Amino acid sequence: MITLKNISKTYKVGDQEVKALDNVSLSIEKGKFTIILGPSGSGKSTLLNLLGGMDRATNGKFLFDDIDVTALKDNGLSDYRKNVVGFVFQFYNLVPSLTALENVSIAAQLTGNAKQSEDYLHKVGLSHRKNNFPPQLSGGEMQRVSIARALAKKPKLLLCDEPTGALDSKTGQKIIELLQEASRDKNVAVVMVTHNPEFEQYADRVIHLKDGVIDQIVDKSTFQ
Ligand code: ADP
Ligand code: MG
Repeated sequence: MITLKNISKTYKVGDQEVKALDNVSLSIEKGKFTIILGPSGSGKSTLLNLLGGMDRATNGKFLFDDIDVTALKDNGLSDYRKNVVGFVFQFYNLVPSLTALENVSIAAQLTGNAKQSEDYLHKVGLSHRKNNFPPQLSGGEMQRVSIARALAKKPKLLLCDEPTGALDSKTGQKIIELLQEASRDKNVAVVMVTHNPEFEQYADRVIHLKDGVIDQIVDKSTFQ
């Protein structure tokens, strides 16, 4: 369980202050698919980067299970990123000179265990592309590799920032379905940021952000 209490984030640009998040309080559960929805500039990436330990809040408290992430020193935060978080980016961020399989195994430090990395590629339907390099793959395939890479770390928190932003809508839908499936693992919280309201239907919980504040939170029953 993840709990944010009165989280604010202010960026200083010269003598200007930008309040990217203003007093945000929310909880995020494992085994659930949470979508953070809001227009460009509403603070979505800022929120995701705080959850991922890639940035620090200006104010407020952020708990992951019994870890007070806001109280961690730099090396504690580094362990948190390494051991707890998996990240999926809009533009995949794969290493172009490594094969699909190598991209998965290196990030998860599974280099001595090709079989395990292959299992993750299989999970995302890409076993047959394991020896291809990223430039030989389509956008959707690269995003699948990056999801396999994130899952291979066995993260407790899978964070996805506009993972379909560079894909056509049909391919994007397949990626969302894959993330929804990943969220059915009761040990993993999946959080996806998007500006596209079409994806709301896949979520268990939708957090609407507007100008750095929570506009509304919608919990949905899953009918399963
Ligand atoms: P979103 O992901 O919803 O588009 P962001 O979280 O990227 O929104 O940005 C929220 C606000 O904070 C915007 O006004 C943006 O310009 C500002 N911002 C984001 N990152 C920085 C930064 N590193 N320095 C200064 N301002 C930033
Ligand atoms: Mg963003």
